[in-house]
Formats: sequence, structure tokens, C-alpha cells
Amino acid sequence: MNLNLQNFLKYYKSRLFDLMEAPKDKRITEWISILVECLEVRKAVFYKRKKEINNQLCLEYTYSNEEIEYPNCINKEITQSLFSESNYVDRKKLAEYRMLFKGFNSAFNFIYKGQEVGCLFLCSNEDSLNKYIAPHQTSFIYESGKFISVLESISCIVEEEKKFKELFRVTETFHDSMDVDAILYEIINTLRRVFPHFTYTLLLSNDTKHDKNLPIKEIQFDDADEAVMKSFLNGETNIVEKPQQKTMLYAPLSGKQGVYGVLQVVTFSSFVFQNSEVEFIRLLANTGGSALENAKLYEQSQRLVEDLQLINETSHRLNSSARLDETLHFLNSQILKSFHTNITGYFLLNEEKRTILDGSHDFFTTSQGKAYLDFVTDVMMKRKESIIFSNVKKQMEHLSPYSSLMAVPMIEGETIKGFCVVLNEQPYYFTFDMFKLFQSLIHHSTLAVTNSMLREELEKMVITDHLTQLYAKNYLNDTIQRSMENDEEGTFLLLDIDNFKVVNDTYGHQIGDEILIQVAKLINQNIRQTDIGARWGGEELAIYLPGAPLEVGARVANRLVKAVYENTNPQVTISCGVSYWTRNREDQVPNLFNRADIGLYLAKELGKNQVVVQEIGNK
Ligand code: GH3
Ligand code: MG
Ligand code: MG
Repeated sequence: MNLNLQNFLKYYKSRLFDLMEAPKDKRITEWISILVECLEVRKAVFYKRKKEINNQLCLEYTYSNEEIEYPNCINKEITQSLFSESNYVDRKKLAEYRMLFKGFNSAFNFIYKGQEVGCLFLCSNEDSLNKYIAPHQTSFIYESGKFISVLESISCIVEEEKKFKELFRVTETFHDSMDVDAILYEIINTLRRVFPHFTYTLLLSNDTKHDKNLPIKEIQFDDADEAVMKSFLNGETNIVEKPQQKTMLYAPLSGKQGVYGVLQVVTFSSFVFQNSEVEFIRLLANTGGSALENAKLYEQSQRLVEDLQLINETSHRLNSSARLDETLHFLNSQILKSFHTNITGYFLLNEEKRTILDGSHDFFTTSQGKAYLDFVTDVMMKRKESIIFSNVKKQMEHLSPYSSLMAVPMIEGETIKGFCVVLNEQPYYFTFDMFKLFQSLIHHSTLAVTNSMLREELEKMVITDHLTQLYAKNYLNDTIQRSMENDEEGTFLLLDIDNFKVVNDTYGHQIGDEILIQVAKLINQNIRQTDIGARWGGEELAIYLPGAPLEVGARVANRLVKAVYENTNPQVTISCGVSYWTRNREDQVPNLFNRADIGLYLAKELGKNQVVVQEIGNK
């Protein structure tokens, strides 16, 4: 290399200038190769000051034929003492640090604008050094320092540009998305792209479920880190640096209405965040927080609309349906639709007695189900309000197999008429929103449920005889009429208590009433569910057996006459007339009654306490 002394610096500067255009990863290599070329360098080691690692001098580049391991960092004290007199150190001075800088004959401490930017150790041709560097050492150091510093600025600007492009892109995605998980993914993925070496966790405060692949943890408010709480409560970004420990950054995910969680960034020990990096993470978390808020508000409004539709539909349906079983069946379907659980039960509370209503799940009739109901009844009577348990087994170990429980009282006026319960196996299954919806559903349904029950009671009252609890005569008439239209045959029994006047006269009217009740009970015990036992009037009772042939009716009548004789106290007897119809023969309800009445009359005539079957034809 034959350069003129005067020209070395010019040449060096122009080469450095050209290097600005070189690809990022080639710039330092190319720079050292200029020196290798000019100064016949055999070994070169370059340490760069790293702001992010506590301003330490860190190994950036080595050029050597030997396989030597250089320390990753040089101690501040060493460089301070090495460059205490001059920023250029020659062989003599380096020799004092033999062990450390063995084989090097020059060292440079590059300074630019008062800032140390790095230092370079060279083993080069002594003559070239003296010829090119020694006379221009200040300028050489200045130009090299400037080069390194400008390189750093350029790469910072490029990095910044990249980051802000990411931020811009992510903001656009946020605007397009109303999906909370998609937004959280975007936050994490963007961070991983920009800072691939850090670890990220989203610490969230809400109780909704998220995709399992997202690095999400719920904030445990009772034992959360102080820095997490500071971020969450004050909406501030916090950095925690502790010696020998990983540096952590906490940025709040904040929207306009509140903070939704905290982004935790874990780096490595003694890592120092640059302001621009903190700002980027803060902005991303902030934008994420706003997007999250929008998505949540959207989800919430969607849910509210759905809930309102559901409540509206429920009220509408319940008001138009009068039957209790239909009402509960419909409620069950609405609960299944909204909460995806079918362990639902409805219970009435009436003076210490708890009745399970028909639409309830079978589980509640088991002993396990009863344990749940005892627990709910107990809590409900104490608190007199709706209850929700996310892990009910914690309260009562013996409750199994369901962990999540909600129960809402059915209140009319001031009194708790009953309650409705839903269960699910999974703990923390029901969200607060579900609880609110369940409350609304039950509040809107209570009136319909109690109305249906009242109506059914009233209907029963109309068709039931008050004293004997047998069916009333009009219901019996209607049933026989319907049966004669639809069935093939049927048998009718007319019964009359013998000498009842005497009974009344002997024991009093009240005992007379009790005997009527005793006979009614015996009737019910001797007929089937589908048969009709009725009070015909006074001390006359009747039974209709739809679809039953005459022999069966006669058998029932005889059995009953015997049962009354044997089981009444004070003892009474009955007489009974039996009549029968069949589709094969033209017949009418009054004729059927008439024949039974004749049978009864004959039974009395024949000495009472007996049955007379009045065959068809003997009107
Ligand atoms: P017979 O064997 O011929 O049927 O004689 P009887 O005394 O039963 O018949 P009668 O028709 O002469 O009297 C019926 C009595 O039944 C008269 C009435 O006081 C009584 N009775 C009717 N309804 C009731 C009731 O609801 N309670 C009571 N305690 N007695 C009733
Ligand atoms: Mg009578
Ligand atoms: Mg009588």
C-alpha cells in the first residue's frame, strides 16, 4: 500500500463515508478491513459501548488468525487507567497490561461529542502505525468515533422506523378487530417480532375465558407484585431492575374507562431499557388497552342485546302460556341456551317444606342433590338474596359432583316463594354476567310461575270436592261423556252409605263427615289412577272406570263394599248399584246413571251392604 502521508486521513474518511451505504451487518467488518489494508493489521479487537447493557464495553468484532477467546466485556477501571493520559496508547503502555492485551501494539479510545463510543486494539505493522496514525491520532480517533456513532444512530433510526411501522400496522389491525383474543395475540406477536429475546405475559383482571395458547395469567390481587399493582392501579409503566436479577417492565393495558391488565416483559439480568423501547412498549400496551376496551364494550353491548332479547322472549312466552309444566319447560330451554347447562331445578318453600317442581332435573331427587338443596335453602334463608358460588366444594366438602352454583329466589311481595338453582361441573363456570342474566330471567318468570301454580290450584279446586277431596260431580259427568265418545266400554258405580242418618244422629255430624272422608280414601285405594272417584252428592259417592268391562266393575264394587265394612270406624256399610256401557249398543250418559240408580235402589231393598249389577236392557 503506497499512500502519501497527507492523504491517509482523506482516504480513510472517504472509505468510511462509502461504508454508510454498506449493509448493516457488513459495516464494522468493512471498517476493520480498511485498517487491515492500510496498517497491515494482523489482529484487531473492537469493543463497543452498549447503552442497553449498563454502558459497558462489549466485544463487537474480532479479526485474527489465532484462535483466542477475548473477554466479552472490559472493565471500566481498566480502560480508565489504560487511557488515563491519552486516547491513543502504544506498545509500551500496552505492555504494562501484558496478560490482557498480549500481542497488541496500539489501542484507541474513540470519543465523539464527549461520549466514549468504543475502543479498538490492533496488532499492526509498527512502521505503518508511525507513518499514518501517529501524526494524526486525534483526527483518526475523532473520525473513527464519529463513524461508529453515526452507524449507531442510523441503526437506531432504522430500528425505530421498523418499530413504528409495526405499531402502525398493529393499530390498524386493532381497529378492524372486535375480538378480544385476536387483539391480545396481536400485542404479543408484535412484541415478539420487535424484541424476540424477551418473554411476555399478560396479567389480566377479568374473569372471561381466553385462548389457551395466549400467555395469560390472572392478576392475583391478594398476592400480586407491588410493581404489577402500581401499574394496574396508577396506569403507570414501571421498570424493576435488581442486581443479579432479570429486569422486568410492567406496562398497563389501559383504555379510557379503566385498566384491563398489565403487560409483563421479562428481559435478562442487568439489561437497561432505552427510552425509545419503553415508549414503544408503553404505546403498544396503551393502544392494545384501548382496542381491548372497544372490543369488550362491543361484546358487552352484543351480550346485552342478546340478554334483552332473551328476557323479552321469555316474558312474552311465559305470559302467553298458562301451564306450569310448559312454563318450566320453556325456562329450562332458555337456561340451556344461555348457560349451556341442564342441571336446573325449581323449588317451592312452604312452611319448612320444600317441594321439587316437575320441570326440575332428576339429580335433585338423589341424596347428593338433596345435599345441594339443603345447602342452598340454608344460605338463601339467611341471606334472602341470589347466591353464586364458583367452587362450592370449598364451602362444603361433601357437595359433589358440581362445583359452580347459582341460585335465585322467587320472591312475591316480600316473601320467598321458592328458588331456582343451576349447577355445572366446572369450577368458575358462571361469569358475573351470567349471574345477572339468570337473576333477570327468574325475576321475570316468578310471576308467571306462581300464576301458573295458582291457576292450576284453582282448576283443581273447581273439579275437587272440598270435604272428600274426590272429584266433583260435574267433572265426573264430563269425563264419562268424553269416555263414551272415545272408548269402547266403561263401568259406572253408584254408592250410598247405609243408614247414614242414624250415624249422624248417633255420633254427630262431624263424625259423619269423617266417615265420608274414610270411605273416600277407601275408594281411592281401590281404584287406579285413570279411574275417577267422585262425590255424587250428600252421602252418595260414584266411581267411573273408563275402558273397564262389567266384570271388573262388579269386582271393584264388591271389594269396596267389603273394605268399607271392614275398615270404617265407627263402622258403616255401603250399598252399590253398577251399570255398564259398550260401543256395540246405543246408550246415553243419563241412562247409565239411571241404571246404576236402579241397581242401588235394589241393593237397599235387598237388605243393604251389597252390590246389584244392573245389566244393559233392564232400564
Ligand atoms: P239409606 O240406608 O236408605 O241410605 O238411609 P240413609 O239414612 O243413609 O238415607 P237418608 O237419605 O234418609 O239420609 C241421608 C243422610 O245423610 C241425611 C243427611 O243428613 C246425611 N248427609 C248427607 N250429606 C252429608 C254430609 O256431607 N255430612 C254428613 N255428616 N251427613 C250428610
Ligand atoms: Mg242417600
Ligand atoms: Mg244412605
